[in-house]
Amino acid sequence: MSHQTITLNNGLALPSIGLGVLLSEGNDATAAVTSALQTGYRLIDTAAGYFNEREVGRGILESGVERSQIFLTTKLWMTDYGFDNTLRAFDTSIAKLGVDYLDLYMLHWPWPANWTQTIAAYKAAEHLLAEGRVRAIGVANFKPEHLTALMREAEIVPAVNQVELHPNFQQPDQIAAHKALGITTQAWSPIGGVYGWAGENGAVPPLQNETIRGIATAHGKTPAQVILRWHLQNGRSAIPKSVTPARIAENLDVYDFELTEADLAAIDGLDTGRRGAIDPDDATPEVIDLTIDAA
Ligand code: NDP
Repeated sequence: MSHQTITLNNGLALPSIGLGVLLSEGNDATAAVTSALQTGYRLIDTAAGYFNEREVGRGILESGVERSQIFLTTKLWMTDYGFDNTLRAFDTSIAKLGVDYLDLYMLHWPWPANWTQTIAAYKAAEHLLAEGRVRAIGVANFKPEHLTALMREAEIVPAVNQVELHPNFQQPDQIAAHKALGITTQAWSPIGGVYGWAGENGAVPPLQNETIRGIATAHGKTPAQVILRWHLQNGRSAIPKSVTPARIAENLDVYDFELTEADLAAIDGLDTGRRGAIDPDDATPEVIDLTIDAA
């Protein structure tokens, strides 16, 4: 079974499929958001570090879909960690997006070398939650040990952890850690887009994998739809990125078929255990050097 929404640990309904907008720029980002919302998407995933919050906000407006119908996520960049910095960065993000609240606010990466500030950022997110300015708070790229360290100091369990997850990199231990804490897993690069922007890493990208292509043919669906369905049947949310209207529609058209146990097992068997992107422990602001502009 898979559902169009997933109930978070605070009772909020998270649409299981959303639109990702990493590397969607300018009018392409606006058009992708408008197209997605008009096609029926209700979850949009951006970040201060994607430099398109203004364009995403414009896309929401142009779609004609009411703000209250949309689940909007943005993420806090590491250089804005710390309590006061986080509150300021939140104000900047919502001003760029043109909204007055967020559905989900995430810390974009753990920053172990600056853990005090990481915790202070999370506490600011808890404060925003208490004030009703965000409806849920979460993290991204937190490995199990980061979650354990976070929960020693936090009051609120993150509703979501967004991590690299696709057939080539399935992270069973990470998922087990989420289950133990009641955190919803959200897959980034859910169809393996990471190989497009981080290099192929010697791996066959999931969309080209013969096993997945065979399953797709058997169901009369596309490889992307099969992979997204695999995420859904595993109880995860996924946020495929596209700026191509036909693909945006294709990626949401995943609720009318069911993968068999054998299909699921075959995809489970594709795990290489190797990330396509950087290890979160290495993702410092020095390595990913971004400057977030003011609103
Ligand atoms: P995806 O796995 O979503 O793949 C996106 C790529 O696949 C694009 O090149 C897109 O091309 C192409 N594509 C999309 N749909 C199809 C389809 N149906 N058939 C064939 N090709 C398709 O990769 P991303 O890395 O973008 O991850 C998705 C989202 O996850 C990001 O946009 C972002 O929101 C989030 N993310 C979060 C991170 C974090 O640190 N928290 C890190 C990385 C991503 P085109 O656009 O040209 O159609």
